[in-house]
Amino acid sequence: MEFVGTNEDEKYMKDAYRQAKKAYALGEVPIGCVIVHEGKAIGRGYNRRNTDKSTLAHAEITAIKRASKVIGDWRLEECTMYVTLEPCQMCAGAIVQARIPRVVMACMNPKAGCGGSVLNILDMPQFNHQVETVRGVMEEECSALLKTFFKELRIRNKLEKEVTEKI
Ligand SMILES: [Zn+2]
Repeated sequence: MEFVGTNEDEKYMKDAYRQAKKAYALGEVPIGCVIVHEGKAIGRGYNRRNTDKSTLAHAEITAIKRASKVIGDWRLEECTMYVTLEPCQMCAGAIVQARIPRVVMACMNPKAGCGGSVLNILDMPQFNHQVETVRGVMEEECSALLKTFFKELRIRNKLEKEVTEKI
C-alpha cells in the first residue's frame, strides 16, 4: 500500500541524500540510504559497487547490515528505511527478508525498480511480509543529483572515446 510522506520523512531523506552525495564523490551512481529506529538513524549506506567491486555494495544492503548490528537482530521490524532511489530486486528482496515495515523513496527507477516500477516485490500478497511505501519525498533533489551524475558520465565517456581515437 502507498502512503503520503510527513515532515519527519523529509528530515531523514535529507540524511539519505547526504549519503548519496558520498557515492557521488566516489564517482558512483549517487544512491543513499538511512534506516531509522525510534527516531534515531541506526544504519546508513551509500552505493559503493565499483569502489568495492561488489554487487552487494548497494546502499540499502549496507544500511541493513549496520542496522541489524545495532539492533542485534536480522529482523528490523520497527524501522523505516529512507532511500533516494527505488530499490532493485536484490534490495527489495532484502527489505522483505528483514521485515522492514515501511520504506520511503525519493525517485522511482522505471527501468530497474522493484518497489512498484518493473515489479513490486515490496508488496506481493503471496509473500509473508508486505511493506508500506511512500514515494516522492525529496524527489527533485535526488533526481537532480542522479541526472547530473549521468550527464557528467556521458561527457567523461565521450572525452575518453575522443582521446582513445586520437592515439
Ligand atoms: Zn539494490
